[in-house]
Amino acid sequence: MKKILILGGGFGGVFLAKKLFKASRKNFDIELISDNNYFVFQPLLPEVASGAINAEDAVSPLRKLLKGVKFRNAEIKDINLKNRKVLVLQGFRKRSHWIHFDHLVIALGQESNLDIVKGLREHAFTIRNLKDAYNIRNHILSCLELADVTKDQLLKKRLLNFVVIGGGFSGVETIGEIKEMVDRVINYYPNIHSEELQFHIVEYANRLLPELDETLGKYTKKVFLENKIIVHCESALLEVTGTGVYLDNEKIINTNTIISTIGSTVSKLISQSKFKLKKGKIITNENLQVSGYKNIWALGDCALVPNKKENEEKKIKTYAPPTAQFAVRQSLFLAENLILLESQKKLKPFKYQSKGSLASLGSRKGIGKIYGITVRGLFAWMIWRAFYLSFLPSFSTKIRVLLGWMLEFIIPRNAVMTDTYKRNNISYQYYKKGDIVFEEGMIADGFYIVKEGSFKNTYKKTVDGKIYTKIYKPEDHFGSRVILLGKRRTGTIVATQDSKVLKIDKNSFILINQNFPILNEYFSKYLPKEFIDLDLKIEK
Ligand SMILES: Cc1cc2nc3c(=O)[nH]c(=O)nc-3n(C[C@H](O)[C@H](O)[C@H](O)COP(=O)(O)OP(=O)(O)OC[C@H]3O[C@@H](n4cnc5c(N)ncnc54)[C@H](O)[C@@H]3O)c2cc1C
Repeated sequence: MKKILILGGGFGGVFLAKKLFKASRKNFDIELISDNNYFVFQPLLPEVASGAINAEDAVSPLRKLLKGVKFRNAEIKDINLKNRKVLVLQGFRKRSHWIHFDHLVIALGQESNLDIVKGLREHAFTIRNLKDAYNIRNHILSCLELADVTKDQLLKKRLLNFVVIGGGFSGVETIGEIKEMVDRVINYYPNIHSEELQFHIVEYANRLLPELDETLGKYTKKVFLENKIIVHCESALLEVTGTGVYLDNEKIINTNTIISTIGSTVSKLISQSKFKLKKGKIITNENLQVSGYKNIWALGDCALVPNKKENEEKKIKTYAPPTAQFAVRQSLFLAENLILLESQKKLKPFKYQSKGSLASLGSRKGIGKIYGITVRGLFAWMIWRAFYLSFLPSFSTKIRVLLGWMLEFIIPRNAVMTDTYKRNNISYQYYKKGDIVFEEGMIADGFYIVKEGSFKNTYKKTVDGKIYTKIYKPEDHFGSRVILLGKRRTGTIVATQDSKVLKIDKNSFILINQNFPILNEYFSKYLPKEFIDLDLKIEK
């Protein structure tokens, strides 16, 4: 029996495994490997982020979906094409195992490429998986919580500005959903007035939804403007910091919430493999075989698959777009081709004409084109919901999502913060000239090493009433004293030019210091015993 190893439990992998098992379970030993034990219905993630549906309702357990198919929850680390085996890490201790295959199917999707704009990796949220949606929701609610009580008007303004980068399908759906969520929970926050809220969407092209007709992009903009969402078209993103978004037309949006839907790339696993890549994807032939191999196949977002139907019509080489609709259709072709290959019959080239596209704009409005017919408004929104409901992979999930949507009409939106959002324990942070890193009196949150630029520390509340300052340049550090001596910040640190620091969060810094004797020795000598030991200058 031939072993078919499917890598990835998304649209491509799951629908292929299901189809193959149904059509030819006696001839193939099918195993699917994925790093999550659930399938994520990505088109519903903006609704999870906005709390319109529960997080669990946008996912289905893979073992339930793939009854009868072998499933392994593991991280794929390496592909050895010569010896036909795949290296996985599994379990709590991440033990490594090699899994053999006769046919390998790569359906690993794509990752967000956050290196395309400075500061994006460090400061932006993405919306690709359940954790992302969860983080966005909790972060927005925590912004509202703080905005309701802070006396700092500048901070309040930043907390109430929400920015989505990218005006494609996921960007448009995300800003629409977030706006609706905030509108529905805002009356729980008596000190926030609706005119203080700002929602922004930033798009490089000259219109929203550039993948659709111009009229639909214009309609989307009109709906957004009516709904008080600020649209920035023809705006390139230059830089992102912890407090703002910088655009090429000299616009600056002060914000603590940046959600990026731009930039995609294949995972490191694929980019470091021997596969030929184009446009950052694995090149396949029309039969979905990876270029140069008979037994390696790829589909979905990670693959560059020629679409014979469009190629014939347009007389130029076109490729399948990265959508769930195409990944599912490719999986059906691939299942058939694996069966045809085993019975030594001619393989079928992939050809598919898209049935159309739909997007929800929030506030019960939608937009799209189905079988060439344009739909918009409430009607489009209802079709959007009906279509995704029918597309959801399990009956129980369909019921839960439908009930959630129905309850939405009669009960208020849930404003519970279920988890605190966590950034990396150690990360680079960017500051623009004039940005405040922390202020006098604050609890210590981290230790900072200056990588680029410079910072000024100003001590105002001194015993002798004088103001003291100190400048930190690259390789200097600040923040250790307060963490290690358990006090509050005594100075205010401001970037004196555009700067970059490495920030280690408080608990990690304490742990490293406790467990690394050389560092501990260094800090016990470095830490001044008295304020006077700080080597300060008097402000003139
Ligand atoms: C917010 C959002 C909204 C969208 N809306 C729509 C829409 O309305 N309509 C539409 O058609 N498409 C939409 N899409 C696109 C659609 O979701 C993708 O095209 C589709 O998911 C691609 O399927 P795939 O199987 O190629 O990849 P994915 O569904 O991304 O699956 C990849 C799988 O591989 C696993 N994996 C990756 N690396 C590893 C590893 N190293 N080890 C183990 N497992 C690994 C992942 O966990 C995942 O299970 C949307 C996408 C997003 C993010």
